[in-house]
Amino acid sequence: MRILFATSEAHPLIKTGGLADVSGALPAALHQLGHQVEILIPAYPAVLDKLADAKKVCTLHHLPMVGEVELWRGTMPDSGVPVLALRHEALYQRAGNPYLDSQGHDWQDNPLRFATLAHVAAILACEDSPLPEHFDIVHCNDWQTGLTPAYLYYKRSQRTNLKCAKSLMSVHNLAFQGNYSPSWLTQLGLPQQAFHLNGVEFYGQFSFLKAGLFYADKLSTVSPSYAAEIQTDDFGFGMQGLLQSRKQDLVGILNGLDTQAWDPATDPYLPAHYSAKQLDGKQQVKLALQNSMGLAEEAGTALLGVVSRLTHQKGLDMLLEIADEVLQQHAIQLVVLGSGEATMQQGFIDLASRYPGRVACQIGYDEGLSHRIMAGCDLFIMPSRFEPCGLNQMYGLRYGTPPLVNRTGGLADSVIDSNQESIASKQANGFVMHRAEPDELKMCITRALSYYAQEKLWQQIQRQGMSQELGWELSAKRYLELYEEMLKPQKRESKEVSSKVGTVSAN
Ligand code: ADP
Repeated sequence: MRILFATSEAHPLIKTGGLADVSGALPAALHQLGHQVEILIPAYPAVLDKLADAKKVCTLHHLPMVGEVELWRGTMPDSGVPVLALRHEALYQRAGNPYLDSQGHDWQDNPLRFATLAHVAAILACEDSPLPEHFDIVHCNDWQTGLTPAYLYYKRSQRTNLKCAKSLMSVHNLAFQGNYSPSWLTQLGLPQQAFHLNGVEFYGQFSFLKAGLFYADKLSTVSPSYAAEIQTDDFGFGMQGLLQSRKQDLVGILNGLDTQAWDPATDPYLPAHYSAKQLDGKQQVKLALQNSMGLAEEAGTALLGVVSRLTHQKGLDMLLEIADEVLQQHAIQLVVLGSGEATMQQGFIDLASRYPGRVACQIGYDEGLSHRIMAGCDLFIMPSRFEPCGLNQMYGLRYGTPPLVNRTGGLADSVIDSNQESIASKQANGFVMHRAEPDELKMCITRALSYYAQEKLWQQIQRQGMSQELGWELSAKRYLELYEEMLKPQKRESKEVSSKVGTVSAN
């Protein structure tokens, strides 16, 4: 199988969230299974720095509004997966976050930056590509590459016998849609006719994600529960109608973990190591974490941890609401690492100053500390209001830090609540809230602490999570089954748009 994996971020090249983890690990797992996969990603400065061996392979001409772009090929530092870095000085050579300027606002030219990425993916996915490699599948990820299936559709509607790869649109988070003014449409080389209910139009805007969801051959998202949730009014962010109409084409595949980078037995970020069989080292990590974060060094005090974007989605405002009560009722400690909404950041800073030695907070992004929190804490708190898949709860499972989660999306698919029945059947691996409400979170923490007090039972819950198969191999096999299904001959569907369309300038 030959797969072009188009993405706007991939670990370890550049990362802002879970998409990067998937984009690093899934191609690596497919590569391991013997398939030819290439990652297509913008050549941000960080990407070029880390692709030390990159060489120019070709120049593409006549891209709308940008003219020429270059493709440079290198290899992923750890997995050896080939990477095509899309190079254009003005579009991608800027410091900082791939999506936001230094003020935290979207880069003004994001529609152009990511339409260009999507357009190049579509060009490479067809037999008239300038590269000798041909792909069977183009795997698009989130709104940043949502236009690829639309470009493919209009390319083929001009040349009906043109052979192109099948497209898969994966949704990692439906909340981010890339919705822009319709005035961008023709500037980006798509025909005006595409601005239609049966096309890229979304409540009067031009939606990159809707384009992907409408035009792709198949759709996937990152957990079975989220695949069902996004078809409902509560979680569909306006896309539920389209997703319901395409439910036959939509599958949920739970993400795996990078089990090499996240292994408590070898993790280079940890001061001591441990495993399900030999848990002792976890205590040393906890004491070192308490020490480094200015918490009292108390091995027996339950240490609760948070590593997260601090946004409404993640539900940590609920933790702030109940924190005083919980800290007054229980002898616990809390460590928080994250960044996001200013009020939430301030809320945790203030909480830490009210409880010196018991609550610690670091605002910012810190890979090493995130590993030490995962390993050094006793309970990982993740009360997300919605969570397409979530990785942190799985890191918690793997690090013997039972996750406490809300019952939604991938959290519901990976965490099994501890109760009499699940303990007896040796399934229990964490704690699950029934509703995203502060009182429910409080009760769930209290319940978890009652288990923490029973050492043998706690260790059973820890070991259950630690012994689970959480790697990418299983998920990669599910994606391969999906790709294979996409390649089966089938009747060419006709989209409800006129075939007399404007030109898409390719190369
Ligand atoms: P999302 O992608 O919605 O932010 P996930 O749980 O799917 O949430 O993935 C988050 C990823 O980002 C995890 O790898 C997590 O460890 C990491 N992460 C989030 N915030 C921070 C932070 N402040 N410092 C370090 N890593 C973080």
